Amino acid sequence: MNKLPLFIDNLAFSKKNEHLAGSLSLADCPRLRELLQQSTKSASENSRSADQISYVLQGKTDAAGQHLLHLALITNLTTTCQRCLGEMPLKLTLNFNYLIADVSDTDVEAIDIDNSDDYDLQQASQSMDIIALIEDEIIMAMPIAPVHETDCGEMITQSGEKPNPFAVLKELVKR
Ligand SMILES: [Zn+2]
Repeated sequence: MNKLPLFIDNLAFSKKNEHLAGSLSLADCPRLRELLQQSTKSASENSRSADQISYVLQGKTDAAGQHLLHLALITNLTTTCQRCLGEMPLKLTLNFNYLIADVSDTDVEAIDIDNSDDYDLQQASQSMDIIALIEDEIIMAMPIAPVHETDCGEMITQSGEKPNPFAVLKELVKR
């Protein structure tokens, strides 16, 4: 098992260009598990235990001295197709950039972020809850009404051909 829960000093993490990678199971993410279970009554325990979230968190300080975090997530979850009500793999590849604000609450709104579309502001914290962050981001990224893009209503073969999630993560980090 991973060392959970997972808290970081996000400012120190960025200053030291630290790197954190691992995977979570649904047992680590009770809110997300509840969401998936509500929609996936038919999912067997076998497919449920295969559900996994791979994450890579990279701290960085840019040339301007801004403290940044990059979070890459790949989910291998199971949900229910809202059209055929069959099990459906929910594979999300998500990337987030955070700018850590080393300021008090009142100053946060005054910060003018370049490319603010690309960065979400995070308050500097000595105990930033990484699992809660990952869980929140996945919940927000989940489709409201997932449907099979292809082969809806047919048996889905999940064997073989699966890309190695860690190989994919490596590609993400290189970008
Ligand atoms: Zn379907």
